[in-house]
Amino acid sequence: MADIIKLLPDHVANQIAAGEVVQRPASVVKELLENAIDAKSTSIKLIVKDGGKVLIQVVDDGIGMSVTDARLSFERHATSKIQKAEDLFKLDTKGFRGEALASIAAIAHVDMQSRQENEEVGTHLKIEGSKVLSQEVAAVPKGTSIAVKNLFYNIPARRNFLKSNQVEFRHITDEFHRVALAHPDISFHFYNNGNELFNLPKTNHRQRIVNIFGVKTNQKLVPVTEETQVLKISGFILKPEFAKKSRGEQFFFVNNRFIKSPYLNHAILAAYEGLIRPSTYPGYFLNLEVDPASIDINIHPTKTEVKFDDEHTLYAILRSTVKHSLGQFNVMPALDFEKDQNLDTPYAFKNKGAAIPRVAVDSSFNPFQESTQKKELAPRHSSFIKPNTQSWESLYVGLESEKGNSNDFSSLQFESDAITGSLFESKTEEETATPTFQLKRKYIVTTIKSGMLVVDQSKAHQRVLYERYLKNITIKKAVSQQLLFPLELSFSKKDIVLLREMAESMTTLGFVFGKIGEEQVEITGVPHLVKDSEVQNILDELIADCQQGTATDGFSQNDLLAKTMAKTLSVKTGEYLDRASQQALVNDLFACKDPLVSPFNKPVYVTISENEIDNKFN
Ligand code: ADP
Ligand code: MG
Repeated sequence: MADIIKLLPDHVANQIAAGEVVQRPASVVKELLENAIDAKSTSIKLIVKDGGKVLIQVVDDGIGMSVTDARLSFERHATSKIQKAEDLFKLDTKGFRGEALASIAAIAHVDMQSRQENEEVGTHLKIEGSKVLSQEVAAVPKGTSIAVKNLFYNIPARRNFLKSNQVEFRHITDEFHRVALAHPDISFHFYNNGNELFNLPKTNHRQRIVNIFGVKTNQKLVPVTEETQVLKISGFILKPEFAKKSRGEQFFFVNNRFIKSPYLNHAILAAYEGLIRPSTYPGYFLNLEVDPASIDINIHPTKTEVKFDDEHTLYAILRSTVKHSLGQFNVMPALDFEKDQNLDTPYAFKNKGAAIPRVAVDSSFNPFQESTQKKELAPRHSSFIKPNTQSWESLYVGLESEKGNSNDFSSLQFESDAITGSLFESKTEEETATPTFQLKRKYIVTTIKSGMLVVDQSKAHQRVLYERYLKNITIKKAVSQQLLFPLELSFSKKDIVLLREMAESMTTLGFVFGKIGEEQVEITGVPHLVKDSEVQNILDELIADCQQGTATDGFSQNDLLAKTMAKTLSVKTGEYLDRASQQALVNDLFACKDPLVSPFNKPVYVTISENEIDNKFN
């Protein structure tokens, strides 16, 4: 039989390699920025159009390339950074695999200009799908400019797989942050669709963080330094009270390379233990310096995973260093095991001054007038619709047992009423309604025809609020309350971009935006029943959800918004609900379209049938 094994042609091999190196526009940004840094640039420009799908261009003032090198740089395994295998163990460059440019050129239209400092003229090279279209002599500035256009133009499947421009832009911004944070000594400019988004001058690490994440960040930073034989740590952590709902601000750099390390991340979490609320994440910007021979960066084509020789030691050093910094800068509260946790000031009130108590007089109060009105619910619970009828109970008719069962809870209640009931003449609505009680400040328990109903209070309220908000958004008829004093909230530039995207949907919910600045948002109105103090939290949650989520089109964006609002504003586990609120909540729940599951697809209630209870006694 004839031989059937063939070597793949280069352009095919390059396309395959591209699949590993280039997952999305942000991967191209990463590779080009890293090349510019390896070329010893002092100033780097990043220009992006339409989430990088149309254009990604990086312009640097580095060492440039000779005519031959410019041509060679697009060959696979063509690199100036290592020559032999041993070099892998003393890497001081970002790149070394020599595949990035070859991969990118296989799947895009590439336009490169480059000139070395001591040359009079440079070179201009055009490549499409690994094919060189032209290479000419050109008068160009010192350094290199590489423009990558129409990414994945020849692989429609990959192109279609890309997310919306906004989502791709977000990934690009993340990459940009990582590179810019690791190199404060280089100045960076970032233009998105013709607008300058970042102008980062050459500076120190602290100032670079502040320039990226906003002026307010400065007061949140706690310095971290440590030098041991195996490891040098420098950088900053964020004070515990600024822990966020999203992991957005967690950065590890090993020898100036951004890396992801769940293991080392855990070391930091361990240091913060007890200082931050559950499900929040501490922020950190840490540079680790280790002997290049003690790590292996070669394990992943995108080079964001690193293998350390002695991970356990690093873990221990990192944890104790961070702990030490937290203690040293007095951000660690004094340990007192005797103290009753319930007496602690809740986080939200920690930094607020005490309010002067005021005496309020109800001028309409008339002690002789009999009140038949129900007492007002606490503000938070007034977001329940008033109890209407016991509509929800009818949902269970026919589920199992028949009506008029003599074992019905109502007959039991009748007995006790006989003893105490006569003391009070008229019964209020509350008393005649189906009995409910709150179990462990977590569940609302009540009876239904077939037995018992146990409702998770938090999830039920999420469902109620979610449907209400979604309706408000779709009919665009939310009630807004004007704020007496507009709120000025600070965000990072990246978060502002997100908020701008969400602003329209948020307006339909009742938020009213004033000026949206570079790092500041003014809120002049909030949805009915939302308190001023909750606004920052809602926006933070929203940004966090948005970063993780895939909310891209208007539809899913609205859905995300409704979910976030519901999650943030719902009654939580641990909150006390009075009888009226319990009943209102159950009523509202069963007036929902989909009372069975929470907006996050968790069951909202369970029923326990009489039979099941009976069986326990057998
Ligand atoms: P690697 O970075 O792994 O060496 P690349 O494919 O990214 O591989 O780049 C190939 C080579 O092209 C580099 O080794 C470098 O010599 C050259 N090169 C790429 N970008 C630049 C740039 N911006 N300035 C100067 N030389 C560059
Ligand atoms: Mg490279």
